[in-house]
Amino acid sequence: MRCEKRLSTRRALLRQAAAAAGLGAIFKMTEEPAAGQPRRGRPPVRYGPINKYSAPSDLRITDMRALTIAANFDYPIIRLDTNQGVYGLGEVRDAGTRNSALMLKQFVVGANPLNIAEVLRTIRPYAWHGRQGGGYSAVDLALHDIVGKVFGVPVWRLLGDKYHDRIRMYCDTVSSKDPKVYAGRMLARKKAGYTFFKMDLQTMELVGDKPGAVDYRGVATPKGLQMLCDYIAAIRDVIGYDAPLSADHFGRLDVHDSINYARAFEPYRLAWAEDLLQVGTLNRGDAPLNWRAYKQIKASTTTPVGGFESLFGLEEGFKPFIDNDAVGVIHPDPGTSGQCRETKRICDYAAQFGIPTAIHMAGSPLGTMGAVHTVATVENFLSMECHAVDFMSWWQELVTGVPKPFINQGYITVPDTPGLGIELNEPVVKEHLRYPGYFEPTTDWDKATARPQGVAGYPHFNEHGEWVVTQSER
Ligand SMILES: [Mg+2]
Repeated sequence: MRCEKRLSTRRALLRQAAAAAGLGAIFKMTEEPAAGQPRRGRPPVRYGPINKYSAPSDLRITDMRALTIAANFDYPIIRLDTNQGVYGLGEVRDAGTRNSALMLKQFVVGANPLNIAEVLRTIRPYAWHGRQGGGYSAVDLALHDIVGKVFGVPVWRLLGDKYHDRIRMYCDTVSSKDPKVYAGRMLARKKAGYTFFKMDLQTMELVGDKPGAVDYRGVATPKGLQMLCDYIAAIRDVIGYDAPLSADHFGRLDVHDSINYARAFEPYRLAWAEDLLQVGTLNRGDAPLNWRAYKQIKASTTTPVGGFESLFGLEEGFKPFIDNDAVGVIHPDPGTSGQCRETKRICDYAAQFGIPTAIHMAGSPLGTMGAVHTVATVENFLSMECHAVDFMSWWQELVTGVPKPFINQGYITVPDTPGLGIELNEPVVKEHLRYPGYFEPTTDWDKATARPQGVAGYPHFNEHGEWVVTQSER
């Protein structure tokens, strides 16, 4: 009793002090029981059915299953199951392989999915650029889906504050050799509500057959560059010079070609020229990693240099470009860059240097939604790509739980429901499977074939040359 009275007296003193300081409202908030705890005389506060899964310390990943949707690109989807019924969905980078995720099954089964950093640290040595970032990224997404469901919050809340209630989208738009036809396609985008645009400027496809337009390497001559600019001008005429417009797919350019192209585009105020050094052209200095080449290009033009949809990780990929002033707009694909947590790190780091973020996306609505949650927390976000609006009417029907149309007037609404806020529409997914079976068992991937460094419990030679067999192997 004495103790209670002392506390009560202390509380009264605090209340008086808070009132004197103008903090009465704050003090009142702290008097209320924490959300989720029972109030005297009232039933316990519940956030919904999701809470039944929440026994956090006992939560364990029990399985990883996978399927692949056959679309414009393959969409490999994974599902992480747990011992408490809750599961998480993830997606491997478009045109990747689900095996890049399944090879990680041995590391994630048995782990507590709430320890996101610990799980990701374990699998990071197996992630790299291009499609090799897909497995790591899928696991990250599934972990965030689980954690959001367990704690009853949307994934974006796990990453930071929400700067955007809806995400501005832009579309991959098929080019045409006829500038008027090409401009007409872009005008259709504008009429559909899109406010951000991107065009492909494939040198050979558009002007390769015009006399004197390309050199022996397929790179535009001054005459060819003027023709490419005519395409930009035609599109500017219909969307206006005030609308953001970026450009991509110029062909196999080297540093000097890239500078010539970027300078020629300057009058058209592109939002960015994308991946000027073609991704994957190793004999041009390993273009995806060659920050020195991009630094030269960026220093030589006022056209913003953008790109790097094939880079994984901040330290592994983006940091050298940002640190060395070699990029104007980053354009990661979360399916390669590391999905929620790593992409958020990359975007926040770039923001410190005044570099905005756009997102490359050619995946399913599930992977798209993962990126939606991430960039909702990125203040200087520009726009995200979609590759699927023209020719797959069923694309948005692959998922449930979100408003349709999935992209409405050029935007996707950021969900406030737990986890990703999206589920697979099983009947529609089953109509578009690359391989038979819907999340079939993956026991072939149960056997551990590798162990991260420093983890005990794996049969090995010790420092005395003795073969150490663990308890489980005896
Ligand atoms: Mg691109």
